[in-house]
Amino acid sequence: MYERNITHIERHVKKQNHWRLCTLNLIASENVLSDRAREVMGSDFIHRYAEGHPGERYYQGTEIIDEIESRLKKHLKSLFNCRHVDVRPISGTIANDAIFSRYIGAGDVVMVNSTPGGGHISHHRVGSVGKYTSNIVNFPLSKDGFHIDVERTCDLIRALSPRVIILGKSLFLFPEPVEELESICREKKIIMIYDGAHVLGLIAGGQFQNPLKEGAHLITASTHKTYFGSQRGIILSDVGENEWRKIDKGAFPGSSSNHHLDTLVSLAIATYEMMEFGREYARQTIANARHLGKTLYNMGFKVQAEEFGFTESHQLAVNVSEFGGGDEAARHLKDNGIILNMNLLPFEPLDKVSNPAGVRLGVQEMTRFGMKEAEMEIIASFFKKCLIEGQYVGDEVEEFRTGYQKVHYSFDGG
Ligand SMILES: *Cc1c(COP(=O)(O)O)cnc(C)c1O
Repeated sequence: MYERNITHIERHVKKQNHWRLCTLNLIASENVLSDRAREVMGSDFIHRYAEGHPGERYYQGTEIIDEIESRLKKHLKSLFNCRHVDVRPISGTIANDAIFSRYIGAGDVVMVNSTPGGGHISHHRVGSVGKYTSNIVNFPLSKDGFHIDVERTCDLIRALSPRVIILGKSLFLFPEPVEELESICREKKIIMIYDGAHVLGLIAGGQFQNPLKEGAHLITASTHKTYFGSQRGIILSDVGENEWRKIDKGAFPGSSSNHHLDTLVSLAIATYEMMEFGREYARQTIANARHLGKTLYNMGFKVQAEEFGFTESHQLAVNVSEFGGGDEAARHLKDNGIILNMNLLPFEPLDKVSNPAGVRLGVQEMTRFGMKEAEMEIIASFFKKCLIEGQYVGDEVEEFRTGYQKVHYSFDGG
């Protein structure tokens, strides 16, 4: 009786699989799995439960996942050179909530990046932080809008005595001032949390700041943006044993029970890919972003942060108000096979979120498909033809993309 409905879904899944391999995906929070990381997701682990820690589970039958999870944790600690790792949060937001629930109490002051300053919804009133306190204060920004103003932030910290500050964001072009804020946080016993959701793979590859070494207490992150993994979350830290024990209950039972074992085994494979290829991948990703920024800028696009070389991450921000704004430009590009998202730019009012001046571009996925500087120039030429010259480039985009179907920086075929 439901046969038609099921085949309808199956047809749509096939369509999605095919369509996305024909497009240029520049959504900065997405990436692709290698075949080997993807294949293990259909395994029996997709059915199973494992609550607690390896060797201390609440159910029987977990010996094999215990083995995989223990090894994964050991290798993550060596990759990030840190004392503690929690691999159980099932997304970056859940990792944030696990930590925020432990450190933020009613009435506490918390400092975060504002939405136009690039901050993530989980840091804000309507998201996770807002569940614990309403005293949320934004970091003041420097004139360029893409950096925190450290001096004014220190003044605010002295005036307001926050309990927690949360660095890291979603529009994330440059490193955060972790080192600069470390001493005031130490002096005033403020917990510094670094949300590295976007940049975890760049950190793993040693091509971005190293927040724990610079003085952050904790890193929370997603494992699927610049990192090679399945969609999950992670917590990393160097705090002492007692402090870590306090945090430990945040992920389980605080914010999840089972932690989706099929995607955990996939993350384990992705972690070996990161260990082997992460450095070169992160280097190429950042080089590609900077090259795309420069090329678009030279074509006349208002690529932001030109005075700082456009970016030090996988992302770019472009002001597209002359093309109808972020919403219209993003839709128009999508109709030409180029997928990205509209984005508020620094200092824009919040009521512009549904048609902000900006778009955000991320080159991490196209880099994983093997693209380099020469390909960035071709992508820039599609932007020019499409937005400046008003041509349809959908067929050209599709034709170009057929040359980049294999996931690089992986052990596929090996
Ligand atoms: C993407 C993102 C997250 C978490 O995203 P999930 O989809 O829950 O993994 C958290 N913080 C920031 C800054 C992000 O950009």
